Amino acid sequence: MTVFSILFLKLPGQPMMEHDVVIVGGGISGLSMAFYCAEAGMRPLLLEQNAEAGGSFASPRYEIGRKTFWLEMGAHTCYSSYQNLLGIVEACGMMGDIIPRAKVPFSLFIDGKVKSLVSSLHIGELLLSAPNIFKLKKEDQSVRSYYEKIVGKRNYDEVIRHFFNAVPSQPTDDFPADMMFKSRPKRKDVLKNYTFRDGLQSVARSIAGRKGITVATDSEVTLVRHEGGNYRVTTAGGEEYAAARLVLATPSAVSSKLLEGMEPELSRHLSVLKAAEVDSIGVIVRKDVVALKPVAALISPNDVFYSVVSRDTVPDDHFRGFSFHFRPGLPEKQKKTRIMEVLGIPMAKMEHINVKTNTVPSLRLGHRQWLEKTDALLKAKKGLGLSGNYFGGMAIEDCVSRSKSEFERMRG
Ligand SMILES: Cc1cc2nc3c(=O)[nH]c(=O)nc-3n(C[C@H](O)[C@H](O)[C@H](O)COP(=O)(O)OP(=O)(O)OC[C@H]3O[C@@H](n4cnc5c(N)ncnc54)[C@H](O)[C@@H]3O)c2cc1C
Repeated sequence: MTVFSILFLKLPGQPMMEHDVVIVGGGISGLSMAFYCAEAGMRPLLLEQNAEAGGSFASPRYEIGRKTFWLEMGAHTCYSSYQNLLGIVEACGMMGDIIPRAKVPFSLFIDGKVKSLVSSLHIGELLLSAPNIFKLKKEDQSVRSYYEKIVGKRNYDEVIRHFFNAVPSQPTDDFPADMMFKSRPKRKDVLKNYTFRDGLQSVARSIAGRKGITVATDSEVTLVRHEGGNYRVTTAGGEEYAAARLVLATPSAVSSKLLEGMEPELSRHLSVLKAAEVDSIGVIVRKDVVALKPVAALISPNDVFYSVVSRDTVPDDHFRGFSFHFRPGLPEKQKKTRIMEVLGIPMAKMEHINVKTNTVPSLRLGHRQWLEKTDALLKAKKGLGLSGNYFGGMAIEDCVSRSKSEFERMRG
């Protein structure tokens, strides 16, 4: 036994103390936090309740005969403006895994027919409204109040808002306009929009496998407390961990619940945020059984789903994949019936089916002030950090940026 292992020996009844920081939640927020900690020479432990890390980076892979095929059950597109994410991708040696997305359209799906976005727009109204983009500011505007002036009211109501709703799979009229789509400086040496050869979850897998990062899956955290100068974390399976620092990178409601006993004011502050659960079903089919022309996604104004995201952006010789992102609370039978109607094939023709629930925040005007108060409450607590997709926005880059700034604050 070395001196090193003696130092980290687990005493009976004592939690493991071999990590500098415990991070709860293994989505890109928690993973990027783990990345920054490990880069700084710390030893992070990441606790994830599911069998694999990734959260909304979910690209399940299937063996079908001698072929493999993956599909995205959550996020699917990255941009050259995701500079913090790209920094991590670069450090993971994954720049060569970046691939372009095939140029297939985002289309409307109305009364069983695919319609192009452009053919559905009122062009005259668009031309009259578009110059407003140079006059109006997004700050303190809702998505509706800003964009209906940019595209025209009819275009907004009949077309554009359905595309916006498809982004976080919920109504977005009341979202803050400046948090929905952001313009950020772009990297010139990277494709404008892209994905990864094996799907986005390959990035999650790569971060999770980095030296210095320990990931414990199937570890749902049920209790956190602060005792004797350390944070102590208990999982549903009864494991106990302790470290001088704790980061919660879970949906706001989960973080609020976990903080109830330890930080009641912060917990109450988090509890005011709303979020939507997105029920998704992904299906893989043989290419020759579906007549639908290649699409990036189908968006339907008044359907039971917000969008159907397709794998046609990364074409495959044998299979196609479609992820249906449904409105919440629908019976399973209704969802499956709609999948069969849209694809025009029975369930028996599906090679694989994947089911996933994602949580996305329902941001509202005033979120910036909410965020200022959050950071004021956290200011004195160097050992405690919060990350997630409910800070500067829900895009991947917002999550990574939040983890980076929280890491820097905690490091001091
Ligand atoms: C369908 C969909 C499509 C999207 N498309 C895009 C896109 O194309 N581009 C883009 O930029 N953004 C996209 N987004 C947004 C972006 O993907 C997410 O906001 C981001 O991935 C969220 O990361 P996160 O780590 O904050 O949360 P999550 O990915 O939700 O991760 C949180 C993790 O915490 C775990 N967890 C929860 N409670 C506990 C607990 N008690 N103990 C342990 N673990 C726990 C969960 O299992 C989960 O793995 C999309 C989102 C969705 C849902």
